[in-house]
Amino acid sequence: MFQQITEGIHLQVSSTFDSNIGLIESGDRLVLIDSGTGAHLQNLEKALLSLDYSIEDITDIALTHSHIDHIGGVAPIMDRTDVVLHLHEREANRINAGDMQLTLSSTFGVKLPKMKIDRPFRDGDELKLGELQATVIHTPGHSEGSCCFYFKEEGVMFTGDTLFAGGSFGRVDFPTGNPQQLVESLEILTKIEFSTALPGHMRPMLTNAQRSAMSSYKTAKSWFNV
Ligand SMILES: [Zn+2]
Repeated sequence: MFQQITEGIHLQVSSTFDSNIGLIESGDRLVLIDSGTGAHLQNLEKALLSLDYSIEDITDIALTHSHIDHIGGVAPIMDRTDVVLHLHEREANRINAGDMQLTLSSTFGVKLPKMKIDRPFRDGDELKLGELQATVIHTPGHSEGSCCFYFKEEGVMFTGDTLFAGGSFGRVDFPTGNPQQLVESLEILTKIEFSTALPGHMRPMLTNAQRSAMSSYKTAKSWFNV
């Protein structure tokens, strides 16, 4: 089920290998932040239904990065309705060239169809999602195109697999992962003001998210010795 975070922003915390899924209700747009693996589409469908929406109402999917547990849901959703796909250009360019290696789909034995990212973005871009607006914060480290989405007005940061609760952070041992970059990205997050952080996995940080960012930054810095 979706948990309402603030007006127009919801989060479905996953209990499976799927990523968490964010939902932005904004004027004429209905936007997912990440899409899970696609293996549990019925859970998403039920959660949408409880808010009086269906899969067919989704207009956009903004991806924090292109790993299979975040991007896998795109294909089954696209089978049902046309959606606009947003992803950092570093990973979008490779996917648009037909290179699905970064998604790790073959590593996990999943066949992912080719897809086209309609709106590649880069650091500092504004994602205009109906009435709401998010700034792209490029936070490489977990993967080269990993990004956070900053809803400044709402004080909400979607942190993908960069920042997790409890002083935790994303792993850096997948292709294009980089410990030094991850530490630098966490440091960037400590300097931005937000009260709530919604990660790609596990529980959200609903209060004092800034403190979580600082704690993850310090832990990563000493862990990776950079
Ligand atoms: Zn990931």
